[in-house]
Amino acid sequence: MIFSDITLYAPDGSILPHRYLSVQQDRIAAISASPIEPEKGERVINGKNRLLMPGLVNTHTHIPMSLLRGYAENLPLQRWLNEKVFPFEDRLTPEDVYAGSMLSMAEMLRFGTTSFTDMYYFCDRTAEAMLSVGMRGNISRGIVCPDPAVKLTDLPAYQEAVDLFTAYHHAGNDLIRVDFSAHAEYTNTEDAIRTIAKTAAEYGARVHIHLSETLLEHEECKGRHNGMTPTAFFEYCGMFSNPVTAAHGVYLEEEDIRILKSHSAAVAHNPVSNLKLGSGIAPVSDMLDAGLRVTLGTDGPASNNQHNLWEEIKLASILQKGVRKDPTLMPPEKVIAMATAEGAASQGRTDTGEIAVGKKADLIMIDLDTPNMTSAHPIANQLAYSMDGSNILLTMVDGKILYQNGEWLTLDIERVKFDAIQSAKRILGELS
Ligand SMILES: [Zn+2]
Repeated sequence: MIFSDITLYAPDGSILPHRYLSVQQDRIAAISASPIEPEKGERVINGKNRLLMPGLVNTHTHIPMSLLRGYAENLPLQRWLNEKVFPFEDRLTPEDVYAGSMLSMAEMLRFGTTSFTDMYYFCDRTAEAMLSVGMRGNISRGIVCPDPAVKLTDLPAYQEAVDLFTAYHHAGNDLIRVDFSAHAEYTNTEDAIRTIAKTAAEYGARVHIHLSETLLEHEECKGRHNGMTPTAFFEYCGMFSNPVTAAHGVYLEEEDIRILKSHSAAVAHNPVSNLKLGSGIAPVSDMLDAGLRVTLGTDGPASNNQHNLWEEIKLASILQKGVRKDPTLMPPEKVIAMATAEGAASQGRTDTGEIAVGKKADLIMIDLDTPNMTSAHPIANQLAYSMDGSNILLTMVDGKILYQNGEWLTLDIERVKFDAIQSAKRILGELS
């Protein structure tokens, strides 16, 4: 396939007009300033008034929670969880998780996301949904083990995490990678966190955790563990000897940022979810000043309520400018890198997240010929501040077009919407 006479978004944020890019199998095979002759039968996509850039990477979400979109609103976190989310989740079946995963992937592809980092359960169903659709992602079985009388290795969740790794790590031409996950400090014993850290090291896997999302969580941890913050506690338990993606980091202290940086951990920043749940605003500028890798996520659709990373890109940028009273912070190229190359790196993927020869063809094509994108000025500014997910014309993962011009090519969108509504309605019936 050839993208012809198209504008490219280069890895350094520069804009390359009138380029020709060919995709062969799952890779970007060639990029040229002069026309590339199509081989017989090769498909050519006209790139006039179009921008081709790397697909976005959503580095923290819980995709089956699309079934809870709009269900639990305007409640403080503990009531949100205990009164609404947990009772609903208790009734989810593996097939509900499949339905919710399919709906979220349809939404992500529509808005130009090509890869995601997920934490949930019944993850084998999410994995099967990913293989069926052809979408990329790192998935993990979120482990919760708060009872000191319970040994983690006796819990079914532990075996599920190991089985998931064995069955799906690198599956589908490396579409799927499997991480290990401790849900959070406040939901696990020291022994459980140490066991997860050790298991991830044994398998050479990455780790996905929630970290200092709320002030309550952060301060209670200090009370429980001799003044140690959640970051210090995870370090004490050996978790950071593995590559870690830590979601939120809203209450990170200076020393926490130093610890995370010293272990090359990544922080997944979820500005919409943090604001909507009233959690606060993460000190992202301080993290970036310290050289920490910061990426972007939506968090689950119950707390966002969409899988639209363009909203996170804009909000991440303007929040730091506003809070720090400094409009020079978080320039567009930096925030776009956080949503693309940095996100891919946080997944341990060095072969995607950029447009370059030899990289995986995880690409999105944007319509520049719309009122909100029409500008004589640098395109990066429009990507960060004017762009809307509906400007996406085409989403390609691993060299395959999965979404184009309103059509999903590897899923039946009517069926996906129907199944998701049926699952949600059945659960609501059981709860009433
Ligand atoms: Zn989360």
